[in-house]
Amino acid sequence: MSAEPTVLEVDDLVVHYPIHRGIVGTVTRQPRRMVHAVEGVSLSLQGGEMLALVGESGCGKTTTAQAVLRLVDPVSGSIRFGGRDLVPLGSRELRPLRRRIQVVYQDPYESLDPRFRVRAVVEEPLLIHGLGGSKSERSAHVEEALRRVELSPPELYLDRFPHELSGGQRQRVAIAAALVLEPEVLVADEPVSMLDVSVRAGVLNVLDGLRRDGLAILMITHDLSTAARFAQRIAVMYLGRIVEEGPAAAVVRNPQHPYTKALLSVVPRRDPRDRHRPQILQGETPDAVAIPSGCRFHPRCPVAIDRCAVEDPSLAQPASAGDGHRAACLLLPAGR
Ligand code: SF4
Repeated sequence: MSAEPTVLEVDDLVVHYPIHRGIVGTVTRQPRRMVHAVEGVSLSLQGGEMLALVGESGCGKTTTAQAVLRLVDPVSGSIRFGGRDLVPLGSRELRPLRRRIQVVYQDPYESLDPRFRVRAVVEEPLLIHGLGGSKSERSAHVEEALRRVELSPPELYLDRFPHELSGGQRQRVAIAAALVLEPEVLVADEPVSMLDVSVRAGVLNVLDGLRRDGLAILMITHDLSTAARFAQRIAVMYLGRIVEEGPAAAVVRNPQHPYTKALLSVVPRRDPRDRHRPQILQGETPDAVAIPSGCRFHPRCPVAIDRCAVEDPSLAQPASAGDGHRAACLLLPAGR
């Protein structure tokens, strides 16, 4: 494992959203219902590492990322970054720290202002944060950021509008606009899911290169095969909890949790000897308002036993897994 220092540490994070009761609900004083989006998530991220947070939509992975970016307020838990806990900080104290944790969103068609040329898009974060020095110094930063995302030579792109770029080039511009602030952490929220398949690998290779240069990347994805190829560690989320985590190769080759096994069973494999029968999960789709008792996966788990409806398993290293590989399942005999 890398000896790089830990740059981000999330501990026991909880995020709930209230559901609007409407006028009738308020007048009749119906109890307020909550979406239990994130329920006790802990993770850490080192410099030069990509951690993939994987799961179906609604599992809480994007809410976890939004909490790390302090775009939503956690109910409890801590987010340690730059020697401070971000959770209790107000907007003024967060401002200098925001520069150091940047985000790239899923849709480069929405995230770039169509009225701005590439030069202005990438320069704008410097202006907002009052960084980058003189106009010519800012230009040099903009050009360097474009080179780092392999939009080179930058002169070819600086004066183009977003509509004159391909989807992959737009996403590279969005990454450059994040990089120009020289962040330590990049949150990449489904960074290639809106892109044509033919350009996805190029954008992921750019992220991989930035990671090799020392950037810490928290990648949110529903795609385990992408996570397996590019991430160093994978954390699998289900209904607001991490149910399995570990080195990417170990999670993919030796999955422990029944949910991870089901996700992996539908990932296309090149090697026919490596193919498994797709395991389609039965039961209700997860509802973050009404969390099942016991193990929250039990209504859909193909190997659940009676205890699973009562006991809530915690993450632990099973005997059948290696170092740093943990899963939350009552059927897994404990390892070390
Ligand atoms: Fe399935 Fe039970 Fe393990 Fe949960 S604890 S994953 S329901 S076997």
